[in-house]
Amino acid sequence: MIEKDGVATLEMVKSKFPKKEVLFRPKAIIECYQEIPCNPCETSCPFDAITIGSDINKIPQVDFDKCTGCGICAKVCPGLAIMIVMIKNGKAYFKIPYELLPLPLIGEKWQAVNRNGEILDKPCFIEGVQKNKDMTTIVTVSIEQPYLYEFVTIRSKYE
Ligand code: SF4
Ligand code: SF4
Repeated sequence: MIEKDGVATLEMVKSKFPKKEVLFRPKAIIECYQEIPCNPCETSCPFDAITIGSDINKIPQVDFDKCTGCGICAKVCPGLAIMIVMIKNGKAYFKIPYELLPLPLIGEKWQAVNRNGEILDKPCFIEGVQKNKDMTTIVTVSIEQPYLYEFVTIRSKYE
């Protein structure tokens, strides 16, 4: 339960995703589950795709018709709560915020981690690393599509 352990249930995770057909284009998945006074995701989106509204405590809502997957919101979210997700050729692609060093390198195979901090039984592959001045680095990762609702981040490189 998220109030006790901070871990979202599968149902909560799925509630943040659009239908799979929509994910043939990249979309922002915002896993911001609790009301907090925060809104840089809303104010930074150049396409007005995120709505929080006049009450800054409200939970952000994404308009997937407006979201282009540009990734700006993921770079500015102080809670690292946003990833950009796309499905292509049986793989799920995630652009995740990543603040640890050393950064992964393109082509490397890494441990994939779920929301409980457990290592998944399939690896993921580093597809891109985008360093951003004064904003969070974004790492692009691919993994088999069945892990769409499980993958959340990377742990360490396979030697
Ligand atoms: S990915 Fe880009 S278009 Fe989509 S919600 Fe984030 S900032 Fe807006
Ligand atoms: S910027 Fe991040 S933490 Fe703040 S409201 Fe938006 S998604 Fe939530």
